[in-house]
Amino acid sequence: MRCTKCGLENPDNNVYCANCGAPLPKEQNGTDLFTGSQAQQSETQIQPPYYTQAPWQSAQPSVPESYKPITPLGYVGYSLLFSIPLVGIILLFVFSFGGTANINLKNFSRGMLISVAIGIVLVILFSLIFGTAFTQYYDQYGIIGIF
Ligand SMILES: [Zn+2]
Repeated sequence: MRCTKCGLENPDNNVYCANCGAPLPKEQNGTDLFTGSQAQQSETQIQPPYYTQAPWQSAQPSVPESYKPITPLGYVGYSLLFSIPLVGIILLFVFSFGGTANINLKNFSRGMLISVAIGIVLVILFSLIFGTAFTQYYDQYGIIGIF
């Protein structure tokens, strides 16, 4: 009987492997359990995907709808959509908080929202730091005499 752990051929009446001490499978109906388990393993083995057609031509994508990637043109479209004043911000909030089932669009919206928030914080910070310097400049010289 062959050990399933180290592969050593042991006498049939051995309960444990003489080499590594692993418990040996009991023989049943004359069939080798070692080969039996091997056959089972290959049955349950995950089969590599066999495409009957090229993946990009596949009519039914294997990716669930909620995980479907945004196409490159989709990114362009959504970016343009989000850059519309006011409407874009509203759309960002809608998509970020449950307005879409697609996780990619949700994450993209959240990323854009965070970027916008960082931008606003930076503008406020800069105007706080340089604001007084600018107003002093304006007071002294003005800009083209309008402000
Ligand atoms: Zn062994």
